[in-house]
Amino acid sequence: MNLVWYRNDLRAHAHRALQEALLAEGPVMAVYFLCDAQWDNHGVAPLRRWYVLHSLLELGEQLAAKGIALHVLDAGDFSQVSVQLAELVRKHEIRQIFCTREYPLNERRRDEAVAKEMKQLGVTIRGFDDSVLVPPTTLRTGKGTPYTVFSAFKKRWDVWLEEHFSLPGLPDRQTPEPAEFVGKKQVDAAIGKLQVSASLTRIWEPGEQAAARQLEQFVSRHLAGYRQYRDYPSLTATSSLSAALSAGTLSPASCFHAARQAMADAGARDGAACWIGELAWRDFYRQIMAQYPRLSWGKAFRPETDLLEWDNDNDLFDAWCEGRTGYPLVDAAMRQLVATGWMHNRLRMVTAMFLSKHLWQDWRKGEDFFMRHLIDGDFAANNGGWQWSASTGTDAVPYFRVFNPVRQSQRFDAEGKFIAHWVPELKTLDNKTIHEPWKQPLLVPDYPAPIVPHAGVRERVTESFKGVKEAW
Ligand code: FAD
Repeated sequence: MNLVWYRNDLRAHAHRALQEALLAEGPVMAVYFLCDAQWDNHGVAPLRRWYVLHSLLELGEQLAAKGIALHVLDAGDFSQVSVQLAELVRKHEIRQIFCTREYPLNERRRDEAVAKEMKQLGVTIRGFDDSVLVPPTTLRTGKGTPYTVFSAFKKRWDVWLEEHFSLPGLPDRQTPEPAEFVGKKQVDAAIGKLQVSASLTRIWEPGEQAAARQLEQFVSRHLAGYRQYRDYPSLTATSSLSAALSAGTLSPASCFHAARQAMADAGARDGAACWIGELAWRDFYRQIMAQYPRLSWGKAFRPETDLLEWDNDNDLFDAWCEGRTGYPLVDAAMRQLVATGWMHNRLRMVTAMFLSKHLWQDWRKGEDFFMRHLIDGDFAANNGGWQWSASTGTDAVPYFRVFNPVRQSQRFDAEGKFIAHWVPELKTLDNKTIHEPWKQPLLVPDYPAPIVPHAGVRERVTESFKGVKEAW
């Protein structure tokens, strides 16, 4: 028997491990381990759990139609996985396990424990780097070290893909007898325990089929204009495929393939190239995560920045979380996050930089808050984005660069449409005042004044960063 061990790769198509299992001799079954306590430990948002569990329901049915029974075992946390897997192996006489590799430290430790156990049982494990386009240790600088600068990484990434890219397919097998989705009860029970408001879940559609449709629509409607419009949060200009990519209901290979095909049309070439660049950022942070385990311990990529002494002010932090900072774009973005489980990329940068630089709160608090709300919460991308914004990361924005939240607002939401939608207290203001409502306080009695001034932030931040650089 061959076993496909599903983790964050919840799809039946364009799935290298499943493809290889089907090519191997013998029948195929699949397993997924529910790890609720691990999700608690990693602060995974209830909405993301909901997305994963519903995607699992669809996957179980799809696999059953292909004659593959999906088992779902309740492991609690990662420490129980190797024990439960060993039992499954014995019971079903499994000889080979196929899976998609994962790179954060806890996941790697889980896999090391499993590898040890399986070795004793004579079971072969075959891992595939299918959650990325380029395997994370493949590209090295001339000195043999990992790339820590995105632009240099991207050049080599493009070349590598030109030579090696292929889209996994599903081998044709004789039409099998449909199997039973044996883990369905466990998934239903786990869904029953979730507490997620209907106002959140009605926005999203889990599962592989919805993700494939969404990709198709994005490519046909928005890819061509991606470079031009992607920074404007009031427009539907980006793919919103991050939840699908992080749960693996969609593979980065399918995205890359679709974008490359779209490039045949000259009008879409520029937008597609720009979007492929975002897939490269995704790979970049994953290879950083894989090669710098200290990130998984909550450490900064630049060690000297761990000496920074952040303020620990719960009132300021709460105001940020609740969208009450008095800076309209920041508040609109934070309210969007809490109300939808998603935030536009430009606004993730604006709000993250605002928390770490204007409010001088530890970026880890913001990283955790994002994780607890995002439907696409992904350790590598979230950590990478936060450390970029806080100037503690690999290819981070220089510490002396501080986004001015008013200028960002005037530039990327010039008419104030996004703000008016999420901060209705401000919707009657004209498109000039809406960015600086404190200039007309009588018109907006219910909206707070700015909790900190913008003036002086750059100087304070520069001084602090210089201080730790000198002390290091
Ligand atoms: P598109 O613009 O359509 O991009 C396509 C895909 O490329 C995305 O779905 C995503 O998988 C990937 N991508 C795009 N930008 C980035 C990036 N900067 N870094 C890594 N991958 C990227 N992305 C997550 O998937 N999960 C997170 O938890 C996450 N947290 C972030 C936190 C901060 C502070 C910042 C600045 C960025 C974060 N990002 C995260 C990256 C980015 O904001 C989201 O991927 C993007 O907004 C998702 O929207 P989209 O699917 O419409 O993206």
